[in-house]
Amino acid sequence: ECKHIPTGPIEMTQCDYESIESVEEDLYKHLHELVATPFFRHFRVDLYRECPFWEENGFCMNRECGITTVDESEIPEKWRAASLSKVELPPEELRNSLPGCYYKESDYCFLDDHTEGDHVDLIANPEQFTGYSGFPANRIWSTIYNENCFGISELDLKAKVDSDDSPQSANSPTKSSLNEAQQCLEKRVYYKIISGLHASISIHLCHDWFNQTSGQWMPNLECFVSRVASHPERLKYVYFNTVLVLRAVARLGPYLSAYDYCSCNSETHEEDRFTLDRLNKVIEIAQNVGQFDESSLFKGEDANIVKEEFKVHFRNVSRIMDCVGCDKCRLWGKVQTTGVATALKVLFEMDEKALDPSTNSNLLTRLEVVALINTLHRFTESLVYVNDFRRMWAEAPNDE
Ligand code: FAD
Repeated sequence: ECKHIPTGPIEMTQCDYESIESVEEDLYKHLHELVATPFFRHFRVDLYRECPFWEENGFCMNRECGITTVDESEIPEKWRAASLSKVELPPEELRNSLPGCYYKESDYCFLDDHTEGDHVDLIANPEQFTGYSGFPANRIWSTIYNENCFGISELDLKAKVDSDDSPQSANSPTKSSLNEAQQCLEKRVYYKIISGLHASISIHLCHDWFNQTSGQWMPNLECFVSRVASHPERLKYVYFNTVLVLRAVARLGPYLSAYDYCSCNSETHEEDRFTLDRLNKVIEIAQNVGQFDESSLFKGEDANIVKEEFKVHFRNVSRIMDCVGCDKCRLWGKVQTTGVATALKVLFEMDEKALDPSTNSNLLTRLEVVALINTLHRFTESLVYVNDFRRMWAEAPNDE
């Protein structure tokens, strides 16, 4: 299975596997340096909101599930909660709030409102094997896959979108007013995104695996084969997700280049120039290969209904993250669902005018920008790790 390298067009995109492979190393190198900069390594997250769906008792007690937080005094002043809440929260009439989080109509996820939660250094808390498993972990994944139930009537949907009850329920089996084919396409896209995210998490935990027998961290080929390589479509969805996020970064190019990355740590601004330089390199690659045809989705007479439904599903996924019983998994789950949701918002909600930094400088919060780039880094790193596994497979004695 490890020998299977996908070739040809990546379904639903205007991009092929070969073109992603050809830029993979460069893209990864720039992203890897970028996410280590102060702007991109610091994330603020509320890890202690209650699970809105069930009473979660499955807390992971392994050492590796824990995270270390950063004291607010170590964070540049302008990224602290007090400053952020002044500038970043949208006006009350534009947001739907729940305690500790909110969403705007255009958002595909619930965002933390920055007044609660901790600062986390993402580099100090890498995504890796934690040992979180069994029923609690499986239940999260199956709940997320079950959100893949599209086809609610317009009325139901409107009631759900209007209601600020938690959680939003888009899962009721009611008669559909949607165009079947269109519904199918969106449903497939939803599944691909989730399965690709799941596969990317599996690749990371199999690559940075703790061998309990030897007490060493090492890649676990068998883990990769059973979870990913023996299901070739899962790997394909990691490519799909990579193209999706690349396309969002490509469209956001001018906006991201104009964003304020200043940590104001030094008077020379050397650090900030480095951040912008690496980011521009990533944008350049994204503009060359990030070819995803977002116009093929959400078309036809029911387009707005399907889109609203799609959003409800993704918002629910972001809330399900509050049920993940392992802090480190929850942290990276939140980063990546926010990153994917930001990409979806950019692709499906923003026209060129909205993306213009001179007219819409408050389009994205700092945390959305951080999540977007870190998510692209995760997906690209997965593709690089897959190459490591291919090499291991080729060198393994049982290779026929
Ligand atoms: P799971 O990965 O739990 O999968 C459950 C079932 O889903 C499988 O039996 C299979 O039928 C199906 N499935 C598996 N992969 C796919 C796919 N790509 N597409 C479609 N279907 C699939 N563990 C860590 O060690 N480190 C982490 O950082 C980490 N982060 C996590 C983040 C989140 C949000 C969640 C929910 C879990 C996380 N976990 C993490 C746990 C990890 O994902 C697994 O749940 C755990 O390792 C148990 O794996 P499993 O073999 O039981 O199958």
